[in-house]
Amino acid sequence: MVELQQIEMIGGVERLQDKRLADALQVQSIVLRETTRFFHGQGFTQLLPVMISPITDPLCHSVVDASIRYGETTFTLTKSMILHKQLALMAAEKIFIISPNVRLEHEEKASTGRHLLEFTQVDFEWKGAKAPDIMRLFENLYQEVILAVQKETNKPITALPVPFKTYTTEELMKHYGVDWEPAFSRSISEPAWVLDHEREFYDKEGEPGHYLNYDLIYPGGFGEGLSGGEREHEHTRILMRMERNKMDLRAYASYIDAARKGFLYPSAGAGFGVERMVRYLCGRARIEDVSLFPKVPGQSAYHF
Ligand code: AMP
Ligand code: MG
Repeated sequence: MVELQQIEMIGGVERLQDKRLADALQVQSIVLRETTRFFHGQGFTQLLPVMISPITDPLCHSVVDASIRYGETTFTLTKSMILHKQLALMAAEKIFIISPNVRLEHEEKASTGRHLLEFTQVDFEWKGAKAPDIMRLFENLYQEVILAVQKETNKPITALPVPFKTYTTEELMKHYGVDWEPAFSRSISEPAWVLDHEREFYDKEGEPGHYLNYDLIYPGGFGEGLSGGEREHEHTRILMRMERNKMDLRAYASYIDAARKGFLYPSAGAGFGVERMVRYLCGRARIEDVSLFPKVPGQSAYHF
């Protein structure tokens, strides 16, 4: 028979009593409240998350498969709602979702301090919007979050100058090399935008080889906090971008068919990780420090 007291728990259940975790949860609660309030105030419709679907974000890095077989269908756990966001614009013009994502990241991601296997993304999309609309929208949201956190906790966070400074990946690569993000993040003292990343098929290509997308980088080595972009919506462009990324087109047949029928619209949007924002606001070393039941890449014995 199992002796209950001998079960070793990752992190230990005692950590749930840690004052710093309670602090982080208070900040998280403010972030969720202010985010929800902000988007409603801007006329966005809040949608419910999709958790299983035959299609999900292909991502631009590999993760362990997380699919579930049900009858004839193979569902996959949502990695992000990007494809569903594009389709949902048929029903509402401005949308946001507090969306649970499962990405079974490989062990090497453990050292970043900012990857979990399960996290929550605030995912939003705006029909007809352009990159600057989304960047200004997020800056305004961010300021409201900071003001509320300042007021309701004693965190020494200062109001931020907006708009945030903007860089391109090209200039940062010249300066810091291909792995520019950690050194760049340590070098800045305010969040900054980095434009033009080559990645998933759905981020719109402007000039050939240049992409109308943006990442928000937190200062102090906290790294990437948000990714977004204008979207490809035309059938032929989507096919071309998918083929260029060597994707299995059959797996995305329903999405491709929607694009062929003209059901996808020009739009822009983004998603930011709730835990990453809270980690940055609380100045904690690792993302699991701010998560109640964290699942960390490379660890495998879990009880909660
Ligand atoms: P992506 O579009 O893949 O950049 O994901 C959007 C946002 O979700 C990122 O900018 C992060 O804030 C957050 N995020 C992505 N992957 C993870 C992860 N494994 N753990 C925690 N947060 C993540
Ligand atoms: Mg990203």
